[in-house]
Amino acid sequence: MTYRAPVGDIAFTLKHAAGLKRALDEGLYGDLTEDLVDAVLEEAGKFATDVIAPLNRVGDVHGTPLANGAVKMPPGWKEAYAAWTAAGWNGLAASTDWGGQGLPHLINAACLEMWHAAAMAFGLGPLLTMGAAEALAAHGAEALKQTYLPKLVSGEWMGTMQLTEPQAGSDLSALRTKAERRQDGTYRITGQKIFITYGEHDLTDNIVHFVLARLPDAPPGTRGISLFLVPKYLVNPDGTLGAKNDVRCHSVEHKLGIHGSPTCTMVYGDDGGATGFLVGEENRGLACMFTMMNNARLGVGLEGVAVAERATQQALAYARERRQGRAPDAADPGMSPILAHPDVQRMLLLMRASTRAARAICYMTAAAIDRSHRERDEAARERAQERASLLTPVAKAFSTDIGIEVASLGVQVHGGMGFIEETGAAQHYRDARIATIYEGTNGIQAIDLVTRKLPLSGGAAVRAFLQELRGTVAAVREINDPALGATAERLSEAIESLERATDWLLAELASRPQAALAGATPYLRLFAVAAGGCALAEEALAATRTDSGHDAAGRLGIARFFAEHMAVASGGLEREVIGGADAILAAQAALAG
Ligand SMILES: Cc1cc2nc3c(=O)[nH]c(=O)nc-3n(C[C@H](O)[C@H](O)[C@H](O)COP(=O)(O)OP(=O)(O)OC[C@H]3O[C@@H](n4cnc5c(N)ncnc54)[C@H](O)[C@@H]3O)c2cc1C
Repeated sequence: MTYRAPVGDIAFTLKHAAGLKRALDEGLYGDLTEDLVDAVLEEAGKFATDVIAPLNRVGDVHGTPLANGAVKMPPGWKEAYAAWTAAGWNGLAASTDWGGQGLPHLINAACLEMWHAAAMAFGLGPLLTMGAAEALAAHGAEALKQTYLPKLVSGEWMGTMQLTEPQAGSDLSALRTKAERRQDGTYRITGQKIFITYGEHDLTDNIVHFVLARLPDAPPGTRGISLFLVPKYLVNPDGTLGAKNDVRCHSVEHKLGIHGSPTCTMVYGDDGGATGFLVGEENRGLACMFTMMNNARLGVGLEGVAVAERATQQALAYARERRQGRAPDAADPGMSPILAHPDVQRMLLLMRASTRAARAICYMTAAAIDRSHRERDEAARERAQERASLLTPVAKAFSTDIGIEVASLGVQVHGGMGFIEETGAAQHYRDARIATIYEGTNGIQAIDLVTRKLPLSGGAAVRAFLQELRGTVAAVREINDPALGATAERLSEAIESLERATDWLLAELASRPQAALAGATPYLRLFAVAAGGCALAEEALAATRTDSGHDAAGRLGIARFFAEHMAVASGGLEREVIGGADAILAAQAALAG
């Protein structure tokens, strides 16, 4: 079974959990209308379903072989990419100044979900190109922007993001790639980068690498890192391609998943050094790269949502067809579809509820990013910026964690067939596995949430969010719909757990940072179950309010399931954060020897 973009579901979450309707009413998105949003989503859904989705397995099977320094992309990918860029999808959220369409990040996030679900390895290249264009637009010199931005925005050239080196992964302070000043204002780049996504390929004529490197007189650590734009081919003054730069792909990794995405080792300086152009200021490169990384972190979160959605669709279709055992309440005397068995229903509901909760969190993050740019009042822009900062690590880590969990359940629903490659369920599981690792591992996301995001505005950012969650619970109590079961009680308990864990962490950060770090990952999960549960409750409330044919019974059922099956983990998670740190710190002997 292939993927069908769930355009209706996506639009519903955009409007009712992520606040698109409110933003449109407030005029935040100019003259954008709901009809136009629906039309864009419909078109994206068609493209993802009809053109990209059939390439997913082709990419998995063919991979991206390297021969004579050139990477050959899987059959059909080049044509699909050309059609995709020709339709303007790459520049959807980019500024109209550079040829983009200036649409909200929120709409782009919805489209990214569809590209990734259709083929995660396909969506990844554009995701990085969009991030590269955003970093260049924010930090690049005018001449550099004039030369490169229109082509990065259109997708005629793709971008890469190059941080990792063998000794510098999570910790970029160990980075060694060198940049030396030249007389003409350019820089000589030498060194090696590993694990570079789309470092080499034949989808575009030029590839624009964004490379972190260190100047000879740079201060040590992350304060001495600069960002350089290093094109595969130098560009002549008239915009045509000139000489090949001194950068090459040395090898392509053999991986567990995303076989259609070339992961390259890149070598700079075989022949005296590659020509690089400084982006932003010297030694301020990490700040520039963060523009790109924040965008990419949300994008990777959307990969988790995407693969979970696709795995859920496939498992549900299989569960309707496969017959085994007779369900106790079956009318039919023969074997029932496995969908009739409560344990299979449990797995499928877990899949659907996790996917929808993660989707809502990702879209809420994208909406906050939009508000941080578009709110008229500066204080509101700053508050939105803090909200986006707070939610980004949760969107990235929770969504990619559930990506793996849901894909794993998808294999389980298929039984033995799930373990067989031809079925396709296994590919989702393999593909999903990387997303918790790249763009900052999920452990690093949790640390970011606890050490940098909770203290924002002295804790006011997280407290304002908690207050909003309480508002949702109050609204659930007020409608008092029996179809919501114990949703209000379970969500209220989750929020209380989150509040106590937040207070504890904020206090420990000052006195016992080790204890706070030990609790970071369960805290992120606790944050996500409270936030995701409330988002699903908001959707359920909206579905009961609208009379436009939305699936109110389904939304109520999912909100209740999440609250009663997933949010109930909050008590345990709180204990893991608050009481569990000492168990970790006291058990070092178990890891010795
Ligand atoms: C398929 C693929 C594509 C990639 N694409 C790119 C790309 O395009 N560009 C690029 O620059 N990089 C890319 N990467 C690299 C990726 O971002 C890194 O692998 C990732 O950041 C982790 O770094 P590492 O592998 O060195 O692991 P390590 O940093 O060695 O981490 C190993 C483990 O230790 C944990 N850990 C490390 N430090 C800490 C700490 N301080 N506190 C707590 N736990 C810690 C981590 O969470 C992890 O579980 C890619 C990797 C892969 C596999």
